[in-house]
Amino acid sequence: MKYRTSILTILLFCAITTTGNAGSDKLNCAPNKGLTLQILGSGGPVADDGRASTGYLLWINGRSRFLIDSGGGIFLRFGEAGARFEDLQHIAISHFHTDHSTDLVALLKSAYFSGDQNGSSDAFVEFASGTNVLVMHMPVPEGITGVGRKLHAPPSIIGKIATKTGAEKLVLSHFMARSLNGMEDNLIQIRSRYNGPLISANDLDCINF
Ligand SMILES: [Zn+2]
Repeated sequence: MKYRTSILTILLFCAITTTGNAGSDKLNCAPNKGLTLQILGSGGPVADDGRASTGYLLWINGRSRFLIDSGGGIFLRFGEAGARFEDLQHIAISHFHTDHSTDLVALLKSAYFSGDQNGSSDAFVEFASGTNVLVMHMPVPEGITGVGRKLHAPPSIIGKIATKTGAEKLVLSHFMARSLNGMEDNLIQIRSRYNGPLISANDLDCINF
């Protein structure tokens, strides 16, 4: 049940992994027991960040079970992670912007849908309350206005949400050059509002629950 809650939390915030694998020397994150989140792609929609676009993989007891989003480059990262298609139970696509779905054609099995998040949803905070790992997208810096602000939560809001949910761990992902460039300031904004463990994701990072 706890797994399910965590999975759904990640799914909603995309607005946010036996033996079969055990022998592969490519694996860097598939413990035989428990739940591990692997960041397949931590980049954004523009090719200015040197990262794959959005994609997250949940390893459960050493198997690659859930893929959440499949933006450009995820097909490659999926292979690099040592994940197996035959182990996948679900593929979830948060929304059909290209940076979340371009590589879906290569991966498609079944899909769930969820919307973007800009931090205005109290319902989400309630839903994600007490989550183990909260994955938040940070493609925009503090002070963003216009469409960027309508679509995405700036760092200060990310920090507030993380605290409100009581997340045990906050993972930042879905970066663009404009948020990476001001990373130090962005992290200050978050840390002044959230004092739990904070991870800035890179492609293929593994995060244990
Ligand atoms: Zn996106």
